Amino acid sequence: MKNNVSLSDSGWNLQSSYTQISDKLISELKPDAVTNPSTVIVNNELAKKLGLNLKGMSKKDLSNLFSGNTLPHGSKPFAQAYAGHQFGQFTILGDGRAHIVGEQVTPDGEIFDIQYKGSGRTPYSRGGDGKAALGPMLREYLISEAMYHLGIPTTRSLAVVETGEKVYREVPLKGSILTRVASSHIRIGTFQFLAAHKDYDGMQALLDFSIKRHFRNINFSKNVAIEFIQSVMQKQIKLIVDWMRVGFIHGVMNTDNSTISGETIDYGPCAFMDSYDAKTVFSSIDTQGRYSFANQPSIIHWNLVRLAECLLPLIDKNEKKSIEIAQNTLNDFSSLFKDEWLQMMRKKIGIEDQSDEDEELINNLVKWMQSKNPDFTNTFCNLMNYEHANDEVFEDNDFDTWKKNWKKRVKSKEYLKTMININPVLIPRNYLVEEALNEAETNNKLDKFNDLNRAISSPYQLKNVHIKYLMTPNKTNIPYKTFCGT
Ligand code: AMP
Ligand code: MG
Repeated sequence: MKNNVSLSDSGWNLQSSYTQISDKLISELKPDAVTNPSTVIVNNELAKKLGLNLKGMSKKDLSNLFSGNTLPHGSKPFAQAYAGHQFGQFTILGDGRAHIVGEQVTPDGEIFDIQYKGSGRTPYSRGGDGKAALGPMLREYLISEAMYHLGIPTTRSLAVVETGEKVYREVPLKGSILTRVASSHIRIGTFQFLAAHKDYDGMQALLDFSIKRHFRNINFSKNVAIEFIQSVMQKQIKLIVDWMRVGFIHGVMNTDNSTISGETIDYGPCAFMDSYDAKTVFSSIDTQGRYSFANQPSIIHWNLVRLAECLLPLIDKNEKKSIEIAQNTLNDFSSLFKDEWLQMMRKKIGIEDQSDEDEELINNLVKWMQSKNPDFTNTFCNLMNYEHANDEVFEDNDFDTWKKNWKKRVKSKEYLKTMININPVLIPRNYLVEEALNEAETNNKLDKFNDLNRAISSPYQLKNVHIKYLMTPNKTNIPYKTFCGT
């Protein structure tokens, strides 16, 4: 039995403003009750930031709370409708296994969606069971928290619980629920959903809501829809450049997985690249390399064009004029992206100012990495003279020549300071993540997971205790593969 037990002294301060936008965008319903929930991990640091006081709660209360058996005070749970281009194919979607339990207003006045993922079927489940397994939920927890500590905009993870029930994939697995925290769950696909229904009143309301939530500085004396597209474009450019800074490959950049807020969302088949190769793909189903490392900028541009198509009727009454204005805006993408990327790459090699020769210097380094496939993270660690980054590949003559040119450019002694702040030493390497998840899933042991989770919270500091996490994986001919929707 589910009951709305008052947990107000835990600091819940929930609203549900999203449900006011349009009936079409939501279905109000509760998460499934589960039989025997137990808490796997709770993120106390995030809870504190949200204004929640969970420390006084018993284990039983916590597991009831984060399984959805006991809804937080003020909760009016709902699932969101959206659409999306999945690998280029348009589909009507929605939260098929997630419930937003409310929007938490923090003591600082910030607003965050609190969502349970793996919490049961909804009207948008299609053929799915609405459930999630422990491994993928712990994976999302770990990688999203790693991204947060790397300073990259992302949804975060507040808790993982086991439900005590089995979920059936190829084999029976431990059922699990992740609590995801996002500055909103509005996706490009949310606009596509309303466009597919030709609901332009709803779209205007969603636009107003999105601006209020994310872009309060938009100039209302200008064309608001265009200002909005520009703002989303800026956020997404910054995000993808950040991904490329740390070698992150999202793996499933469908329009339903591209947020308006510019936060990374949906940690399914994502992974960090070890050896540099621009064509790297990890997702088992991405056989064409649509979402490969180097394709990420052109894919986000493609997704932004889909957003602009939805908004055409709100740009101008004259369709031809709308298209022209939207195209002009989106045509800026390439040069804006290139500027942002160059700026990031300059900093990765310790350059704070600008010179015309930088582009060539940077491109030469990228070409060298593409030809010799060194470890991406450790290439920059090598430039920072870190001892662990001593692979044979760094003794290469071409790398030596490049370094000599680079040293001429970075005269100032300050360059190391710039590099230390932007180049992570520690990323959650795929083999480490797999080891930690295997231990948790197969042996019920969380030591490796907890240890790795602690290590990823200081990715820019070289700590002796973390030395074991800095090692590159053993060379293998079996490519690392990741999977969607598990
Ligand atoms: P994702 O690959 O996580 O972006 O999911 C794509 C769509 O499939 C979303 O609408 C999800 O809600 C839905 N989905 C994924 N897994 C399940 C599941 N086990 N049951 C129901 N819907 C699911
Ligand atoms: Mg998704």
